[in-house]
Amino acid sequence: MISKIIDEDLIQKTNSLLQKCDNIVLITHEYPDGDGLGSALAMYDYLSLEGKQVSVLLPNEIPSFLQWMPGADSVIVYEQDPETARSLLGQAEVIIFLDLNSMERVGAMASFISQLTVHTVLIDHHNLREKPIAHVEIQLPQIASTCELVFRYICRVGAFEKLSKDCAVCIYTGMMTDTGAFTYNSQSNEMYLIINQLIVKGIDKDEIYKKVYGNYTENRMRLMGYALYEKMEVLPVYQTAIITLSREELDRFGHQAGDTEGLVNQPLNISDVRFSVFLREEEQNEIKISLRSEGDLSVSKIAADLFQGGGHFNASGATYRGSMQEALRIIKEALPNYLGTPEDEEDN
Ligand code: 5GP
Ligand code: MN
Repeated sequence: MISKIIDEDLIQKTNSLLQKCDNIVLITHEYPDGDGLGSALAMYDYLSLEGKQVSVLLPNEIPSFLQWMPGADSVIVYEQDPETARSLLGQAEVIIFLDLNSMERVGAMASFISQLTVHTVLIDHHNLREKPIAHVEIQLPQIASTCELVFRYICRVGAFEKLSKDCAVCIYTGMMTDTGAFTYNSQSNEMYLIINQLIVKGIDKDEIYKKVYGNYTENRMRLMGYALYEKMEVLPVYQTAIITLSREELDRFGHQAGDTEGLVNQPLNISDVRFSVFLREEEQNEIKISLRSEGDLSVSKIAADLFQGGGHFNASGATYRGSMQEALRIIKEALPNYLGTPEDEEDN
């Protein structure tokens, strides 16, 4: 039995809102990952079959390793087509935000959205905030992926029978990518009951794994090799590894969106590394920061403290407006505060 972990009142509120509205826009965060895109496309599939006028709106482009996803070709990207995006937002009766917990994460369209008078729903698994961002919020940080919440929602409104194979593929993709293919945050037994149901719907889990993780271009593989061999700095005293990639280096390897996905996890495979940092220069004075940790080190706190970022306990991120050197300096100077050496502790 899969337990009814989402509050009944929230299910009812969301369902009655979606029943009475026809025009629905689904939005996930910038630099979308498998869970963000998967949860939006799963809801897109479900609501389209319910006869709704639905669109998926992304702040920026779909990474290469997710472009195969069912429904991906119908997505509108704000950065590429702001006029269409604004017109869809203008017509929307409901906006559903998926897999994000702050409006900053929708990028440049945040200010446009803030001016709209529209019903809003949030489905998410990040940490709770002091101030809500939507009228109805289904937000459960204890659940490993937003896709799992979407599955639970669809079941709770009695629509499991109608859940399509495409929808199941999208849900599985997000469950898989937010748990590193079920290698972390993956101990809940109900997760596997849900996967069982998705297999009953006809997904091929091995094929999905291959499409997400086994579809590198040669350039991407060489970029990974370069980053790990030439660019990874290991600081044993702080059990930390740091990788930086400048715009020039990314361009040298013909970098496409998504090519560095997963790179930040690699240094954690070194037995003595428990904090991994990856800094990617998007453009001049815009550094995308990814932080990962093992164990009881909260990287969402580090991202928030140092860069006003956020995320999950062991996986977080931020954007820094400044140079690579500055970002690197801020991190290195902060290491003794978060990863004090045993000698430091004895001194205290
Ligand atoms: P990634 O390193 O894969 O880009 O992001 C890891 C996690 O950090 C994401 O799931 C998301 O929760 C969070 N995250 C990434 N970038 C940002 C950001 O710019 N701001 C905030 N608040 N969270 C972020
Ligand atoms: Mn997620």
